[in-house]
Amino acid sequence: MPTPYRGTPFQDAADPTATETEPRDWRRSLAQAIRDPDDLITRLQLPDHLREPARRASTSFPLMVPASFLARIRPGDAHDPLLRQVLPIAAEEIPAVGFATDAVGDSAAREVPGLLHKYAGRALLIAAGSCAVNCRYCFRRHYPYGHEPRRLDDWQPALDAVAADPTLHEVILSGGDPLMLTDHRLGEMVERIVRIPHVARLRIHSRLPIVLPDRVNEHLLSTLCGIRPAVVMVVHANHPHEIEGDCAAALRRLVRSGIPTLNQSVLLRGVNDDAETLCELSERLIRCGVIPYYLHQLDRVAGASHFEVDEATGQSLLEELRRRLPGYLVPRYVREVAGEPYKVPVNRP
Ligand SMILES: *Cc1c(COP(=O)(O)O)cnc(C)c1O
Ligand code: SF4
Repeated sequence: MPTPYRGTPFQDAADPTATETEPRDWRRSLAQAIRDPDDLITRLQLPDHLREPARRASTSFPLMVPASFLARIRPGDAHDPLLRQVLPIAAEEIPAVGFATDAVGDSAAREVPGLLHKYAGRALLIAAGSCAVNCRYCFRRHYPYGHEPRRLDDWQPALDAVAADPTLHEVILSGGDPLMLTDHRLGEMVERIVRIPHVARLRIHSRLPIVLPDRVNEHLLSTLCGIRPAVVMVVHANHPHEIEGDCAAALRRLVRSGIPTLNQSVLLRGVNDDAETLCELSERLIRCGVIPYYLHQLDRVAGASHFEVDEATGQSLLEELRRRLPGYLVPRYVREVAGEPYKVPVNRP
């Protein structure tokens, strides 16, 4: 088994929260995630009037917050940008025109169960239906994951479809969150993908390094290091406060192991819709060796309209980022349009 490169551990003087501790058993950390809205509100000392709406809105899409993420939320602040991403609120239940249940045309791009092929050369595998966190703005609120494969052999038709199409040079493991697969299951899946000769790149889209940093364990690193396809990790953080403590350490472990690691964010009202926050996010990412990749315009999913930032505002924010940051720290501002051959840049008018 190839051993990942481990540089000397160091403490970032500029970020004393980025401590180097060995990850704990991530399955246990996952099991300890908070799932009860009342529990969350009590622990964070939030006002009681949030309880009833939180209970109601969590019946259609449950609340789920790992303890590590909870520790990065400021107690007593109902407007905390990390809290806003995970707390069910009354606004989710207000219908909004143009916000639908299949916002990005996934049903049409599904050729084989579990496989989405929208763009040239790349196919996306729904490797797992669940996540370690339930982001309130997520398209997954409505995705029919119950219909996707669950056992490894159920993936074979999707993997066969990749093997039968020599134009597919990249497999993207996505979900849900592909790192929700057990170490063993993920290892088996990677092994099957590695056997397909024309797959030159294996990409993993995961929010676990951010919300459940214990997932970045030795087993994961040794599964991904030293295999033939180039491995790229794309994580998902939206606010600089997410890049702290055990999360910063997990990102460093990935990067130090030699895995190019990129970040994608979603532009979210009340979370990261100001230039200061987006600049700080880029700065904190690069301190861990992570490069900003995409800033996504929100997919218009039912229940998420209160997160939308209009595109003109988004464009001005990007303009401000370009003024303040080196080019490589400015993410590409894109929007997903059903039927388009790539993520469409949201350009200046
Ligand atoms: C977003 C996405 C990709 C990846 O697009 P990139 O621009 O290469 O990051 C691939 N397949 C599907 C179905 C997607 O939604
Ligand atoms: S981690 Fe990603 S897929 Fe999972 S709920 Fe959040 S946004 Fe959705």
